[in-house]
Amino acid sequence: MNEFTLFANTIDGQSSTGCRVTHGVDPSTKTKLWDVPVASAQDVDEAVSAARAAFAGWSGTTWSHRQELILAARQVLQGTKAKMATLLTKESGKPEPLEDRVIQDDDELLLTLHQRPVGVVVAICPWNYPLVLAMGKIAAALITGNCVIVKPSPFTPYSILKFVELTRDIFPPGVLQALNGDDTLGPALCSHRGIDKISFTGSIATGKKIAETAAKTLTPVTLELGGNSASIICPDVDPAVVAPQVAVGSFLNSGQLCVASKRVYVHEDIYDEFLKAMVESVKQWKVGPTSGLEAGIMLGPIQNEMQYNIVQRFFHDASQNGYTFALGSHQQEGSANSFLIKPAIIDNPPDHALVVTGEAFGPIVPLMKWKDEDDVIRRANDTITGLGGAVWSNDIDQAKRLADRIEAGTIWINSAEKPLPQAHFAGHKESGLGGEWGREGLFQYCRPKVVHCYKAKPVAGGK
Ligand code: NAD
Repeated sequence: MNEFTLFANTIDGQSSTGCRVTHGVDPSTKTKLWDVPVASAQDVDEAVSAARAAFAGWSGTTWSHRQELILAARQVLQGTKAKMATLLTKESGKPEPLEDRVIQDDDELLLTLHQRPVGVVVAICPWNYPLVLAMGKIAAALITGNCVIVKPSPFTPYSILKFVELTRDIFPPGVLQALNGDDTLGPALCSHRGIDKISFTGSIATGKKIAETAAKTLTPVTLELGGNSASIICPDVDPAVVAPQVAVGSFLNSGQLCVASKRVYVHEDIYDEFLKAMVESVKQWKVGPTSGLEAGIMLGPIQNEMQYNIVQRFFHDASQNGYTFALGSHQQEGSANSFLIKPAIIDNPPDHALVVTGEAFGPIVPLMKWKDEDDVIRRANDTITGLGGAVWSNDIDQAKRLADRIEAGTIWINSAEKPLPQAHFAGHKESGLGGEWGREGLFQYCRPKVVHCYKAKPVAGGK
């Protein structure tokens, strides 16, 4: 099975291909990709039982042992990097163990707080960065002593199934398992009585459904959800320097990045020059299919048809409302055989425009003028989301002041949006609940346990 054209679920250390299969679609050509199994209800029960059985032993291993195995898994990944043809640019680092904390230690009492693994974690992943987002969950859950059942998005099942298959001999059976399935699999896993924690990355709508399901069993959840991040460009920056970088922050992965700059507010003094520089920058990029070996492609296709249709709606809305396309058009010729969409920049649409209020998750970005700090902050914060944001200024005090007032979990100053594994990442408002990555992310996979240890031997009548 160690072929990169054959894919299986991993249950209890074994390959499981089940009786039903489905397949992904190459978004560059709309052609069928390899078969992948669809997990059945029985597969879910077997995976949960195997994980529960493995948890007793795994949670008792030392931090350094778990670290060794995770590093061995990392080696496997690095050895197959070219074949995986994907991401994983940086590992999640080697965090120090979460030490027990002494709250009080005197003659009478030793009061300590310990971090214990929660148990069996379900990791539910989206399609936009399938492997790297899964790795953040898998590494954090395993190092803290949990067992993991990872569920890829049905749009991108391959790299995760392959990674778990390749590491079968590293982790004890049941410690790390993978199940691919259809639309029923996520709900089946989230409502299963044998699950102790749900770690989800995906859309706000699905996050709310998962929270509802989890409420029935009071299963703890971490929700990493969508965003509508704003970039604020101050008047003292050089548009020729900053506009190309903001363009990357907005259009990377064809806009399919949760924390991308989805609204760009440019000070009116430099607006025209900035718009021109950003359009020129994006115009130079090559847009094309990514499944071939053509070099130099900057923007590939939208990953799937569902998302393609959502992005098209944003283009049509902008066109129907007469907003100005400074770059691009709603007419996308040549896209019949793929999900390619050429990028668009919308020139100063009104604040209520769909392209300003919604998350297109595609290559269409509005630039708007601002004049007054209070006003641009009000507009940047006028959203139910709070995932990220960016401020560009030569005046660091001004940049920090604005950054402090943006209601979001992560802000970049003078940089495009680049999450780092050592930095905690958590959305505010409807962009999430809890967070991942960094030392703080590890606590999401632990339950605190406090021990009150009285030092004197028990005496009649107690204390
Ligand atoms: P999605 O919510 O449609 O799907 C995500 C996953 O949830 C998939 O694996 C899917 O099969 C599963 N799922 C669907 N319904 C479910 C249910 N009822 N119960 C359990 N699981 C269910 O999201 P998507 O389209 O794959 O991803 C795009 C969204 O993810 C965007 O909104 C983007 O901003 C967001 N995102 C957020 C982050 C972050 O870190 N905050 C990172 C990447 C993507």
